[in-house]
Amino acid sequence: MGHITEDRDDAIARIYLRRGKEESLLRRHPWIFSGALERIECAGDGIAEGEIVDVYTSRGEFIARGHYQIGSIAVRVLAFERVAIDRAWWCGRIGEAYALRRALSLTDNPSTDCYRLVHGEGDSLPGLVVDIYGTTAVVQCHSVGMYRSRSVIADAICECYDGRIEAVYDKSSQTLPFKADLGAVDGYLRGRAAQMPLTVSENGLLYNVDWEHGQKTGFFLDQRVNRDLVRRYARGRNVLNTFCYTGGFSVNAFAGGAAEVCSIDSSERAVQLAEKNVRLNFGDGARHTALAVDAVEYLKSIGDRYDMIILDPPAFAKHHKVLGNALQGYKRINARAMSQIRPGGILFTFSCSQAVSRDLFRTTVFSAAAIAGRRVRILHQLTQPADHPVNIYHPEGEYLKGLVLYVE
Ligand code: SAH
Repeated sequence: MGHITEDRDDAIARIYLRRGKEESLLRRHPWIFSGALERIECAGDGIAEGEIVDVYTSRGEFIARGHYQIGSIAVRVLAFERVAIDRAWWCGRIGEAYALRRALSLTDNPSTDCYRLVHGEGDSLPGLVVDIYGTTAVVQCHSVGMYRSRSVIADAICECYDGRIEAVYDKSSQTLPFKADLGAVDGYLRGRAAQMPLTVSENGLLYNVDWEHGQKTGFFLDQRVNRDLVRRYARGRNVLNTFCYTGGFSVNAFAGGAAEVCSIDSSERAVQLAEKNVRLNFGDGARHTALAVDAVEYLKSIGDRYDMIILDPPAFAKHHKVLGNALQGYKRINARAMSQIRPGGILFTFSCSQAVSRDLFRTTVFSAAAIAGRRVRILHQLTQPADHPVNIYHPEGEYLKGLVLYVE
């Protein structure tokens, strides 16, 4: 931890909140919305996006220190104490994130060498994501403040792993607020990967991961535990894996003894990746079909071929304004899957939209079941794994929701 500074720091800009607007901060919620701001006091040329700011109540009491942003979230809180945000502070926070993953048996696990090290607000590092693939860390900054700190973040990661991380790759160009116009270019901050793609292991199954060219950081690490559940139920089943990306669910279905798997993604590249990953684990023996088609269209007429279906679409609702359409989208694919799945079929259905709450998702799937007119039982209620922790004061961080349904 950095040292606590006693006096108010005149080099740091000060934001005063409107009266009463400190309430959510007193409950340790890490965001301050722009509407809560009364005025900004700063020396010189004003305040730049990404700068460290101190936040005060209308009565002039210090309340938090964080990164200033332009947009609806004006400050993302780094600390509720007046600590110096220096190298020691970064090492401390990243060290705490590491300690949690070590407690989860992820940092030294021969069967799983890929996991999330930093999950934004869930690790009290709002705006920062760090994923580990073998000896490489992939950093994604979602805020200008984090992006400006990327060098010290890379140092802190390397220090924390004591030589076991050989490369740090920055992949922020697609995740920074585009209005910030930073001209960010993805690339290595430290070292470089020995080979690309890299073969990683998740629950003992192998995947090619390419963070330089793949979606997000190259692999969806948040489905690790749920993939394992697919493995448990797949024996003898004919499986349809829609929105397959790298084919994680398909590989697990085969590992669990599935008779056949069909993987679907609208992206040709994704379908090739899924095909490669199935071959990497099972050679040419697996009865796998991979199709680059629209999953929503494909689900229209699948007949009664499948007795296990996985629906893992991208976030249909990126924000609240499009919630209505998103819910229609979830209802449509779920109704299509439930009306056609074979009796005794198992449906894995997910939503990763932050704007769709757990209850809302369940109600939507309930409506879909009613449209399909089938008898449906909930077997499991799924969420994100423990390396994607939720800060209890920031419930918005709980984004992945899933249901496993048994359809008569
Ligand atoms: N299930 C995957 C992650 C899915 S990510 C895993 O376990 O890793 C969502 C995927 O949906 C992306 O690969 C994207 O290319 C694909 N996608 C988006 N819209 C689609 C559509 N209409 N039909 C099929 N695939 C789509």
